[in-house]
Amino acid sequence: MTIRPILTAPDPLLKAVAADVEKVDGEIRRLCDDMLETMYDADGIGLAAVQIGVAKRVVVMDLDQKDGKNKPRVFVNPKILWASDETASFEEGCLSVPDIWEEVERPARIRAEYLDRDGKLQTVEADGLLADCLQHEMDHLNGILFIDHLSRLKRSIALRKLAKAKRQKETA
Ligand code: ZN
Repeated sequence: MTIRPILTAPDPLLKAVAADVEKVDGEIRRLCDDMLETMYDADGIGLAAVQIGVAKRVVVMDLDQKDGKNKPRVFVNPKILWASDETASFEEGCLSVPDIWEEVERPARIRAEYLDRDGKLQTVEADGLLADCLQHEMDHLNGILFIDHLSRLKRSIALRKLAKAKRQKETA
């Protein structure tokens, strides 16, 4: 397993629309392992392949790692089948938009289908953090960042903060 560098905004690769995975083979499973390793190393709870510059519809997630044990999840070609009219707000962050946290409103409940690590079709009913995180990660597959859901003003403030932090890191 390899820890891969995570791209940060405004890297144009983060705007790429990812392609469907044709077959869940050894190469995809290795990609998932690298993504999980990268996510754990960065203290994240979710990561999309585009965030490491691979434009494939692959997402990894682990929402239970705080309990001391890892429960990695893999979602290949995830697709939302249904979303509730009811919405919920979560304070979101993103490994590609470091140190920025903002409330984002999304459908509170969703039903989605995806292929698991073995290439088997699965469906999931999600609410709470899982619903929010899945929608955040699926956005990445379409080139959308959580700050794209903010008002134009909030987004430009976030991007300026990010650029400033990058400059400070370079001159430090
Ligand atoms: Zn993200």
